[in-house]
Amino acid sequence: MLRTTPKRPESIVAVFPALGPLARTAVRLHPRPGSPFPEESSVGGPLLWPAAEPWPHCEGTHRVPDVLPATSPEDVRLQRDIQAAAMNRPPDERGYTPRERAAMARIATGHPGPEGPVAMLAVAQLYLRDIAVLRPPADADLLQVLWCPFDHPGQNMPRTELFWRAAAAVGDVLAAPPLPSVLQDEGYLPQPCRLAPEQVTEYPLSAELDPGLRARIRAWSALQKNDTAPGSTYDGAEDRYYDRELSVAPGWKVGGWAPWSFTDPVPRHCRACGSEMEPMLTIATTEWNENVRSWIPVEDRDSHPGGPAPSPTPTPTMVTIGDGYNLQIYACPLAPQHPHTASVQ
Ligand SMILES: [Zn+2]
Ligand SMILES: [Zn+2]
Repeated sequence: MLRTTPKRPESIVAVFPALGPLARTAVRLHPRPGSPFPEESSVGGPLLWPAAEPWPHCEGTHRVPDVLPATSPEDVRLQRDIQAAAMNRPPDERGYTPRERAAMARIATGHPGPEGPVAMLAVAQLYLRDIAVLRPPADADLLQVLWCPFDHPGQNMPRTELFWRAAAAVGDVLAAPPLPSVLQDEGYLPQPCRLAPEQVTEYPLSAELDPGLRARIRAWSALQKNDTAPGSTYDGAEDRYYDRELSVAPGWKVGGWAPWSFTDPVPRHCRACGSEMEPMLTIATTEWNENVRSWIPVEDRDSHPGGPAPSPTPTPTMVTIGDGYNLQIYACPLAPQHPHTASVQ
């Protein structure tokens, strides 16, 4: 599996040389549904977890009254299967069968919230051999990301935990990790995906630049898009050209710059040493949208040549953060073992 980001429509550093020193390498993960093995990098796949090590459970406070009814992993999988089966039928047969409708109605009634500790869910597993921009502690070459599939007080996102390991030291692999009996939301259950990591170069969103450079880049962007047709994606957003197409890649990625959206950028500081933290893993709701079509990989554009077949889905992991945002994990640049932090962007 290979995914290739199309060449950016402009060489932005040639236009604004001041961006040159701000270039960062990001690795787009390009998750696509599949059946990954524990020995592979994945999203939502089986982890290379030592059989001898207890599986983590969350003992935090779950906002049960706010999240009822909860759903369950089995119900989410059944719902996705029903939806996929319907979509695979000819267009005039896509309504649910009576049996499917009954199953969907039962799923919609939900489940009571969690009682006691909640088994954490595998979200991502990243091997250093696939993702060279990871900065592991000495001797580690594997990052495992898990989350508790419930929001916690003061946080509108699942609570993440990171585990670094040396793959060679794992030994026997835990065959059947526990699953949480309930989840807050179907969007907190990642669909198993294989990855096609690809390095790209990113520049900060204009909101992160100093005011002078930001103003010049936005004015230049507006000029590039000043012939925008009424009602098109740049109508009223002409000065966003740089932000959308030339700065930060959408979708799941490691490293690079942060995808700030609804809040202004705020520096994150390491709780242990005070260093300014850097974006480490972006967990995205979508791989692209109407505003950022230029980031759709070449292979996905060409996969249905000449035919009316549907485009590849922009939501391969089926993860939803808030109303379609990103969960951004930050790490300390000096010490990978210092506690990470996360925010919704
Ligand atoms: Zn929890
Ligand atoms: Zn630190």
